[in-house]
Amino acid sequence: MNIFRPIKTLKNFFELSSKRLLCVRAENAQKLEETIWDVVISGGGMVGCSMACSLGSSEILSEKKILLLETSEKTQYNIDPSKYSNRVCALNPNTRNLFSGFHAWDKICNTRMKEVRKLMVWESCSDARISFEHAGMMDNVAYIVENDVILKALYERLDELTARVEVIKGSKAVDYVFPTEDTDLVNIQTDKGLTLKTRLLIGADGIHSLVRKKMKVKYVSWNYDQKGIVATLKLSEPTENIVAWQRFLPTGPIALLPLTDDLCSLVWTVSLPMCDKLLNMSEEEFVDALNSALWDESSKNPLVESALSTVKNVLSTITPSAESVRQLPPSILSVEPKSRGAFPLGLGHSTEYVAQGVALVGDSAHRVHPLAGQGVNLGFGDVQCLTECLETAVYNGNGIGHLNSLLDYEVKRQRHVVPAMFAIDSLNRLYKTEFTPFVLMRGLGLTVLDALSPIKEKIIHQASA
Ligand SMILES: Cc1cc2nc3c(=O)[nH]c(=O)nc-3n(C[C@H](O)[C@H](O)[C@H](O)COP(=O)(O)OP(=O)(O)OC[C@H]3O[C@@H](n4cnc5c(N)ncnc54)[C@H](O)[C@@H]3O)c2cc1C
Repeated sequence: MNIFRPIKTLKNFFELSSKRLLCVRAENAQKLEETIWDVVISGGGMVGCSMACSLGSSEILSEKKILLLETSEKTQYNIDPSKYSNRVCALNPNTRNLFSGFHAWDKICNTRMKEVRKLMVWESCSDARISFEHAGMMDNVAYIVENDVILKALYERLDELTARVEVIKGSKAVDYVFPTEDTDLVNIQTDKGLTLKTRLLIGADGIHSLVRKKMKVKYVSWNYDQKGIVATLKLSEPTENIVAWQRFLPTGPIALLPLTDDLCSLVWTVSLPMCDKLLNMSEEEFVDALNSALWDESSKNPLVESALSTVKNVLSTITPSAESVRQLPPSILSVEPKSRGAFPLGLGHSTEYVAQGVALVGDSAHRVHPLAGQGVNLGFGDVQCLTECLETAVYNGNGIGHLNSLLDYEVKRQRHVVPAMFAIDSLNRLYKTEFTPFVLMRGLGLTVLDALSPIKEKIIHQASA
């Protein structure tokens, strides 16, 4: 049984010794195997780590023994002050509140993030547009944070919770044996030869989740035959840069997320052949293609344009101040060297999130298109809901892995996640077409919706929940 990480030099030894998280020592291994854990979280990505922080910070669960298991050995998230990562997430206010609750939000703010006050959405086939902002700009609509900044904050918080949460990095779970009639414990086998026992296994192991596969639940999934190109971009002119921009094109949406006064993060959905072309272009050609995707007006449909202008005239007579002011998107000066990357996009949904002693959170349970910036926010919503359900179970004297409390979590989350997935998938399909009746329908819908502030406010609240 090889549970040691090779220690080659003295320097290496001291580095490793100072990193509680990195490896399993011999004396530790026995303790880890003898302990009956209340919760083991498999997968220490953004959602798994926040699950560990949330449970480890809960007063009601203070007696519970929690362990987080993560394949990656990475323990240091050094954030380069002069360089932004191309992987970012738009976090919603609900996620901010969750992170504040377990004392990780201040760590994000102390590193770096960008507040977004307004979201502007428009399309290439017509002049229809919509903007989202809180009344009187009372709150931000989102926060743009690099994935590494989120992970850094979460691991720093876990460092403060050592008395309550054990973290094993560099170990992969390779098998799970679920409860039988004889035992209500889950057995976890790791690639380093450890066997762990837990009352509740939480699968936070991403889209290819082994926990989900072992649960043998139905998983509905498809690929979009699209990729999301990400990159860090420099704007032609520095601005206040507090707006997130999204333009729907028939090839897929393009989004600019603010990072600083003169930097933006790109998420550009394109077809697979177009993706290869864009990644292989020179930086100058790429920037030209980008500016054209943001500004080109050649696919505008004149029939739709004249119908929309009539509707806008009528709306401006009924509600003169309702239509949002037209703002122009920024233009791009350059792409940061080597910042271009691409990720396959797909949809996936596990029909069941729980079984006796097991629960799924984050991308292991549901995967969505990034066009609405909801993916990881849905996962953080799972974290919040599962924490509350487990707290209720423990408060009422029930077992932590008891199916009834887990079913409560499943019902509550599926009621929220399934409609959100449906809406995101429908938007992606609706905006792919250039068929005039559909362009007209969506243009009219967007124009009317833009004039209805109370409904827009409700949409932002729903997207933040
Ligand atoms: C281009 C793009 C842009 C996006 N933008 C946004 C956005 O703006 N807003 C938003 O909300 N979402 C966004 N998303 C979605 C978001 O990135 C994902 O929802 C999020 O990363 C999922 O986190 P997770 O922790 O559930 O899974 P993952 O990040 O996949 O983490 C799973 C972890 O489990 C570990 N693991 C896997 N198997 C095992 C095992 N057997 N044993 C131990 N550990 C294991 C892995 O090493 C990994 O660390 C975007 C996605 C893409 C592709």
